[in-house]
Amino acid sequence: MHTAEYFRKKPDGAVVCTLCPHQCIIKPDQYGTCGARVNHAGELFAATWGKVTALHNDPIEKKPLYHFHPGSMILSVGSFGCNMNCSFCQNHHISQPEALEKLPYKSCSPHEIVELAEQLPGNSGISYTYNEPSVWYEFMMDIAIPAKEKGLKNVAVSNGFINPEPLGRLLEVIDAFNIDLKGFTSEFYKERTGSELKPVLKNLKTIADRGNHLEITHLVIPGLNDNRESFWEMVKWISNELGRFVPLHISRYFPNYKLALEPTPLDTMYNFYEIAREHLAWVYLGNVHSQAGVSDTHCPHCGITVIERGGYATGLKNARADGKCSKCKFQIFKTHTP
Ligand code: SF4
Repeated sequence: MHTAEYFRKKPDGAVVCTLCPHQCIIKPDQYGTCGARVNHAGELFAATWGKVTALHNDPIEKKPLYHFHPGSMILSVGSFGCNMNCSFCQNHHISQPEALEKLPYKSCSPHEIVELAEQLPGNSGISYTYNEPSVWYEFMMDIAIPAKEKGLKNVAVSNGFINPEPLGRLLEVIDAFNIDLKGFTSEFYKERTGSELKPVLKNLKTIADRGNHLEITHLVIPGLNDNRESFWEMVKWISNELGRFVPLHISRYFPNYKLALEPTPLDTMYNFYEIAREHLAWVYLGNVHSQAGVSDTHCPHCGITVIERGGYATGLKNARADGKCSKCKFQIFKTHTP
């Protein structure tokens, strides 16, 4: 098993994991809350290092990232475990502890994953996704560092619940983040995710200030986080603290895992779309297929449609190779071309 980083030993043989704000105290032969880190004889080990539960070549739009190498493919890697316990998790079969014992996985070395990413045609890099990648921090870093050296892009799809020091090191190798902002009240985070809002907001600000590419996903769940006032506060915060050019993906809830509510009404989705567009330049609806245009990218300067999307098909309509609007040269997305 691979030694973990970010822990300190206690005199009684327990360890304190300092990777995420839970700061789990883990006794010998026990796992932390995430199910991915285990105490063996007073040392902390990364229990899921090299264990891959999902490995697919996905459109980058599926992460979702709409302003980072649009139209490219990205090798997407998942392992198992999570430091949140959302009852509405869409990937509970690989994220939640009860699944971990019986879950099949494939052993892969970082070298094998980087080599595969290099060989895939049209591939822009590697995405750490499907389950929460920060709980397999060491494996992610061991892939991301050589991947970056080879010119591949690194993308993390995360809940953003990580301590500042490990985040600081991630920022050196991860080029783009999609952070799931699950709600905008402390109560929602505490009751519905088993975590805290404050560290997530702080980390969003750190990522934006550092200048790494950032997009945000927000799942709207009827009756749980669909309060208009709270949503309005959230988009205002994003605009004021992170900037109005941070793309926001508003995603429609469907029943999953332990939560069996009706899907989010389409009226709510369109209403939130309009609220968000008052403050943010780029707003998209996810899991909504009945209205054209809610996935397209418009130039905030001259107004023309720059990127058209249908499903995961992406058409660069009025875009230059350097990511600028072909009409007014406003920067729309990041690409390899400067
Ligand atoms: S990463 Fe896992 S073990 Fe470490 S503090 Fe967070 S939940 Fe606990």
